[in-house]
Amino acid sequence: MERTLAIIKPDGVARGITGEVVKRLEGKDFRIVAMKMIHLSKKQAEGFYAVHQGKPFFESLTDFMSSGPAVVMVLEGEDIIARYRQLMGATNYKEAAEGTIRKDFATDIEKNVVHGSDAPETAAFEMAYFFNHLEIVS
Ligand code: GDP
Repeated sequence: MERTLAIIKPDGVARGITGEVVKRLEGKDFRIVAMKMIHLSKKQAEGFYAVHQGKPFFESLTDFMSSGPAVVMVLEGEDIIARYRQLMGATNYKEAAEGTIRKDFATDIEKNVVHGSDAPETAAFEMAYFFNHLEIVS
């Protein structure tokens, strides 16, 4: 069993596709074991995306991620990190495979609807960024 952090980014929440994303998760056997809505401050967005500090899109990305409410979730299942990244699709929606969330809903390389951790170490950091262990059901 593996866990990963998933986010429905502010563009997804603002466009009213939270339900659609959750439906795809539940329909494909991604167990949601924690879920809440948050509105990140600029500082909190910078902390979350600290690995991207110094990149040309860092300012814009952290402005976007703090621009409105987002839904954060912990997903659990076998090989969940890779399986969820497959369901999300490539960062650039133009390169995303058919049937992925980003292919179907993203409008921009930055406003790409969803986030998912890319490795066990980042998943551990990202889950702890938003949830304490009492907030994750087992
Ligand atoms: P992810 O793991 O697929 O989300 O991609 P990355 O970790 O590489 O990037 C994190 C987030 O930064 C992406 O999901 C996008 O929202 C944003 N991003 C990545 N590359 C670019 C870029 O070239 N330009 C802009 N504006 N945003 C980007």
